[in-house]
Parts: sequence; C-alpha cells; structure tokens
Amino acid sequence: MECKSCGASEEEKRLQACPTCRKPVCTDCLYTVQGKGFCSAGCGMWFFHGESDDEEDFEESSEHD
Ligand SMILES: [Zn+2]
Ligand SMILES: [Zn+2]
Repeated sequence: MECKSCGASEEEKRLQACPTCRKPVCTDCLYTVQGKGFCSAGCGMWFFHGESDDEEDFEESSEHD
C-alpha cells in the first residue's frame, strides 16, 4: 500500500484510507475537511456535500496502526 498522491510507502509515511474513495493517502498529502482527512478536496466535498448515506462502516480500520 502506498500513497496514491506522492507514492510514499507505509514504511516511509503514515497512510490512511480516504473515507470517500478508499485510496491510501499519506499524512503529508491529506486534505483535511472538517477534521477528517481525504485524498483530495473533491473527495472531501463529496463526503460532506455529495450523496448522503448514514452507514458508518470502517472496513479499512484494520489497516490502521
Ligand atoms: Zn503522499
Ligand atoms: Zn479520495
């Protein structure tokens, strides 16, 4: 798994999955919207202003830490 923006590996940088598109992105490339980190401004906008569904499943959380 590597940052989809700069290509850094998870050994180099701390990665997390974009909540919108699920792509991994490092903390340097994160785009923060309302306290949440996204891979891009577009994903942030979509998350808060796009289609709204209330389901909160964190399938990617197993990758965290
Ligand atoms: Zn990056
Ligand atoms: Zn994204």
